[in-house]
Parts: sequence; C-alpha cells; structure tokens
Amino acid sequence: MTEKGLVLINTGTGKGKTTAALGTAVRAWGDGQRVLILQFIKGAWKYGELKAIETLGSIDGRIEIRPMGDGFVFHNKKDPDNEERLQEKKELARKAWDMVKKEVMSDNWDLVVLDEVNYAIHFGMLDTAEVADLIRNRPEKLNMILTGRYAPQELIDLADTVTEMTLVKHAFQKGIRARRGIEF
Ligand code: ATP
Ligand code: MG
Repeated sequence: MTEKGLVLINTGTGKGKTTAALGTAVRAWGDGQRVLILQFIKGAWKYGELKAIETLGSIDGRIEIRPMGDGFVFHNKKDPDNEERLQEKKELARKAWDMVKKEVMSDNWDLVVLDEVNYAIHFGMLDTAEVADLIRNRPEKLNMILTGRYAPQELIDLADTVTEMTLVKHAFQKGIRARRGIEF
C-alpha cells in the first residue's frame, strides 16, 4: 500500500515552530527515514541544532541540514537599494528555489523541512503559488513541514496538519535575552 505523504505547517507568533519541526525530523530519522532540512533565512539556525543534526548526519548520512546560501537574504540597511542589486538578489533566490525543487522532486528524501519558508513568502522573496505547486507535484510519499509566521491561507488549505503556536508570553518581553540550549 502506498502511504500518501503529509504536509504539516507550524505557524503563529508563539515559540516552538522550528523546534517542533526539528523534533519531528529527529523522530523520522530515528524511524529510519531520510530527512533534509532547508533553511530559508540566513543564520536562522542556532549552533545547538546545527551541531545536533550534523552529529546525527555523521552517523549514517540520512539527515542533513542545509542553509540556502545568499538566496533568501532579506533587505537590510547595508544593502544598496538599487535595481541592479535587487535583480542580483532575485537571481540568487531563483537559483536557491531551483535547488529546493530539485531536492523535493528527487525521491532522495522521506521528509523535507522548509524552515521559515513562510517568512520568505511574506517578504515577497517567493510566490505562494510556486510553493503550492511544489507541494502538489511532490513525490507521492514525501512528507513536508513548512514553518514560519504568517502562513498563507492557500498553503494552510493544502496542508494536512496545521498548528498555530499562540504567544501567551515570552521571556524576551521581560528583557530576558536568548538562552543557550533554549533559544540557540
Ligand atoms: P523556536 O526556534 O524556538 O522553535 P520559532 O521557530 O517558533 O522558535 P521564530 O519566529 O522562528 O520562532 O523565532 C526564532 C527565535 O525567536 C527563537 O529563538 C525564539 O525563542 C524567539 N522567539 C520566538 N517567538 C518569540 C516571541 N514571541 N518573542 C520573542 N522571541 C521569540
Ligand atoms: Mg523558527
């Protein structure tokens, strides 16, 4: 029997979207699956999770965490705001997206995590329709997890399991800075 793959989305303003995806990734790896975790925001991964996944990956190569390079870096104050630079960034984003499509379509993985992909869409680096097409066209058994605030309705409609993390409170609001092992 072919078990159809599932699409999960972790969204909302509370903490836990990325770490829940990583928890599921580790669970899938423990189950013998092949797992690829792609990062859509440069530097979004913290030392702790990189080290953990790289250590697991070094055991048998079945789990990999991969940053998208400069493909989906957002505008910051240092960026010269000119047309040429904008085109350059769009080109990098397109190349990075081509890599994502190639990996998703490859049949090399049982689970692909697109961490912070919702941000990339929200900030206009990526079209919702392109992501929706990839989800629809993916290999039948492939599971996918999408994370990040502001999940678009079209993707929520396509997904099987959607969790909205609700911000009740966060230590940061009291001025407590990011903690080792909790935040990074
Ligand atoms: P985590 O990676 O801990 O699961 P997340 O993926 O849900 O968090 P993001 O929106 O990706 O959250 O933000 C990443 C970082 O910002 C994390 O270190 C997290 O602790 C922190 N963070 C998340 N939500 C809040 C919040 N509401 N206020 C302040 N900091 C937050
Ligand atoms: Mg996150």
